Amino acid sequence: MMKPLNRLNFSGGPGVLPESVLLQARESIIEVPEIGLSVLGISHRSDWFAAVVTELENNIRTLLGLSGDYHVLFLQGGATQQFSMIPMTLLRGKTHPADYLHTGYWSGKSLPEAQRQGPVRVLWSGQADGFRCLPRDEELPFSPDAPYLHYVSNETVEGLQFHRVPGRDDVPRVCDMSSDFLSKPCAAERFSLIYAHAQKNIGPAGVTVVLIRDEMLKDAPTDLPGFLDFRSHTQAHSNFNTPPVFAIYVVLLVTRWLINEIGGLARMDEINQNKAQLIYRLLDGSDGFYRGRAEPRDRSVMNAAFNLATPELDKLFIAEALAAGFSGLAGHRAIGGIRASIYNGLTLAAVEELAGFMEEFQRRQAR
Ligand code: PMP
Repeated sequence: MMKPLNRLNFSGGPGVLPESVLLQARESIIEVPEIGLSVLGISHRSDWFAAVVTELENNIRTLLGLSGDYHVLFLQGGATQQFSMIPMTLLRGKTHPADYLHTGYWSGKSLPEAQRQGPVRVLWSGQADGFRCLPRDEELPFSPDAPYLHYVSNETVEGLQFHRVPGRDDVPRVCDMSSDFLSKPCAAERFSLIYAHAQKNIGPAGVTVVLIRDEMLKDAPTDLPGFLDFRSHTQAHSNFNTPPVFAIYVVLLVTRWLINEIGGLARMDEINQNKAQLIYRLLDGSDGFYRGRAEPRDRSVMNAAFNLATPELDKLFIAEALAAGFSGLAGHRAIGGIRASIYNGLTLAAVEELAGFMEEFQRRQAR
C-alpha cells in the first residue's frame, strides 16, 4: 500500500502546513540561519526570541489591520483553556448571563466550562437537528445586557461556518476562530476577544493566539491564578513562563508566508474559496452519491463534511483514499462520515487530486 502523501493531508487538525514553511522549520531544528543555534535550544529570554514575538505580533496586526487597542498574546492550553479563562475573566460575579451560541461540537464543549464560572444563556442550539445549519439573525434575540456573546466562527467537526458577524455592536463579541483564523479577513475590530489555537491554519499545536481589547481587562477579578490572568501575559509580553518557542517560531514562518508568498488574507480567502467550491460542486453534482452534511448556505470553507449512502461505503472510501495517498479524511469521532479539511496549507492542486479521486470512486461504484 502507498504511504500517505504530505501534500494530500486533509487532516482536521493538526493540519497540513505549507511546504516552504516545513522546509524552513526543518532547517531551524538544526540551525536557525541568523543565529546559528537550533530553535529547540534557544532561550526564551534571548533577544532573538523577543524579536520573533515582536515580528509575529506585528504580522498579525498587519494581516488583520488590528489597532493598538488590542493585546496580541501567545498562550498555552489550547482553545480548551480559553473556554475557561474567558468566563473566569469576563463572567465571574456577573448577574446578567453571557449569550452563547450552541452550533456544534466545539461550542458545546465551551458551555459547561462557562457555566462553572457564571450565568450563561444558550441563545440558540442546533443540537436537536444534529448541527446541520447555523441560526439566522431572526432566531437570535441577543440581549443588550449580556456581558458578552460567545460563538465559534467555524465548527470544525460539522463543517459549519458563519459567513457573517452575528451579534450586537454594543455587546462584546468573543469568538473561537480556532479553525478559520487567518484563512480570510475577519473584521477583527468588531470583536472584543478572538482566540485561535494554531494547529489548523497557522502552525503546530502548542500555541494559542488571543487578541483582546485592553478595556476588557479592566474589571477582571484580581484573585485569578497568575497563569490564568490575561494581565500576567500582557505584562510579560507572552513570556510569563517558558513559552513554546518552536511553535511560536513556526507561526511566524506561516505569517511571513501569508504576507510574502500568498499576498495577504484577501488572496488567501480567494484560494480557500476556490478549493471549497471545487469540493462542494462535486458533492452537488454527484446525484446524491456524496451527501453534504451542512446546509449549503452555512457550509464551511475549511471543513467539508459529507457521507456516502452507508457507513460501510464511507469506510471503503476512506480506505481506498488512503491507499491512493490521501490521509486525514475520516470524519471526527463524534459524528463519523468523511471530512475533507482544506486549511491554508493545502494547495488547490491537492484538492483537484481529491476531486479526481472522488469522481473515479463514484464511477467505480456505479459499475
Ligand atoms: N475549538 C475549535 C473550533 C476546535 O476545532 C478545537 C479543536 N479542534 C478546539 C476548540 C479545541 O482546541 P484544543 O485542542 O487546542 O484545546
